[in-house]
Amino acid sequence: MNLFINYVYLISAVLFIFGLKMLSSPATARKGNLLSSLGMLIAVVVALMSNGLDYKWIILGILIGSAVGAYLAAKVEMTQMPEMVALLNGCGGLSSLTLAWAEYHQQPDTSLFIAIVTFLSILIGGVTFTGSMVAYAKLAGKITQKAIVFKNQHVVNGAVLVAIVLAGIIFCLNPGSSFGYVLFIMIALVALGIGVTSTIPIGGADMPVVISLLNSYSGIAACAAGFVISNKLLIVAGALVGASGIILTQIMCKAMNRSLANVLFSGFGSGAAAKSSGQGAQGEIRPASAEDVYYILESADSVVFVPGYGLAVAQAQHVVRELGELLEKNDTEVSYAIHPVAGRMPGHMNVLLAEANVPYDQLIEMDDINPRMDSVDVCVVIGANDVVNPAALNDESSPIYGMPIIETHRARTVIVLKRSMNPGFAGIENALFFNNNTRMYFGDAKDSVQALVAQFKNN
Ligand code: NDP
Repeated sequence: MNLFINYVYLISAVLFIFGLKMLSSPATARKGNLLSSLGMLIAVVVALMSNGLDYKWIILGILIGSAVGAYLAAKVEMTQMPEMVALLNGCGGLSSLTLAWAEYHQQPDTSLFIAIVTFLSILIGGVTFTGSMVAYAKLAGKITQKAIVFKNQHVVNGAVLVAIVLAGIIFCLNPGSSFGYVLFIMIALVALGIGVTSTIPIGGADMPVVISLLNSYSGIAACAAGFVISNKLLIVAGALVGASGIILTQIMCKAMNRSLANVLFSGFGSGAAAKSSGQGAQGEIRPASAEDVYYILESADSVVFVPGYGLAVAQAQHVVRELGELLEKNDTEVSYAIHPVAGRMPGHMNVLLAEANVPYDQLIEMDDINPRMDSVDVCVVIGANDVVNPAALNDESSPIYGMPIIETHRARTVIVLKRSMNPGFAGIENALFFNNNTRMYFGDAKDSVQALVAQFKNN
């Protein structure tokens, strides 16, 4: 039986890995999700078969969990996805903590190794749970999005972390004693506290990076819990989540040209960092009306849409797709340039455009569109700002200097759709708006694009 179970776990692990690989492209992502879910279903069934369990509680748990999951999945808006992921990460962390607690409570295993992985499960699981809840509350606007900071905060957090590690060492040396149990409870409570105190000093706009990091933590906690209960698949699945979460965190930091330490400790995006921007851009802007923009687009051979956060705010994705189709009917080559951190969550633009049924082959990654930019007739920047700011290339004093951007300024004509001259997330001016080849088309992105669609239909 044991050999059979191990083989099935191996098959599940392979399904997880192929599923993860398929998630890397929008074209295969749905199948990848199904494949990974199948791996998990097989694993759960086999895990239930392998133990002499009381199925009554398990079935109740499955029913309640499935009902809550199905309700949330049906109700959640695409733009609320990061919040949903935060909640799920938090549940993962709490599961690892309670699993380790239940195991320890039943019969404390006094071996050093089990004590260490038990300690790691409750520490990382606890931090993940409350950290994720704070991240959720910030994103959902339930608490202030601003970084909550107090004097010597990082020193206090660091001291608490050192204290908990020391307590952990003492616990690992005396896991079976009643003193060990008291330490265990204290460590769990302090870990829950650290989750809160380490997440509140981070600005709301950086929460997607934090959520990706917490996702990684939830994987590491699950991996440790897998060792506690000697479940090989939980160890593999936890390691996969831990590794993929940290890779995504790195990708996001790199795309913003910021270090993880800067994200976690600087309070960026909360106001303070935004004020310390580089040189302000100056000059005259050239506003354009819907009719002006229509004539520019109507005579273009190639148009590249560059969506950003404003597209999500305006929910303009459907009407942009409609405009794209009208342009194609007019024999214009249409594509969509995707910056890895456009918007406020990884894949934000991909998700919005996929929801509007924009064909995948029209989505072009930043690194593929930039070399072609000189030959693009018109770039239409829709609610994007930082990700097209040339200061990232040429202003060393700018906070976004070094961040790769979509180089729209090299296109023949640039049309920028936004409501005002207000800055974006980084809080800095954008010289692109003052260039000779740029026209500013002011207004809510959805209304503006709708006006263009009307122009195409009426002419
Ligand atoms: P920005 O935040 O730089 O700019 C968005 C622009 O959209 C604003 O200038 C705003 O101007 C405009 N806008 C807002 N609402 C509307 C509307 N209804 N209609 C038209 N325009 C609108 O967005 P980008 O996508 O260019 O850049 C993303 C930023 O977020 C980067 O700095 C990135 O580092 C950061 N970030 C991204 C994360 C991710 O995972 N994607 C995670 C964390 C941070 P106005 O008010 O004048 O309309």
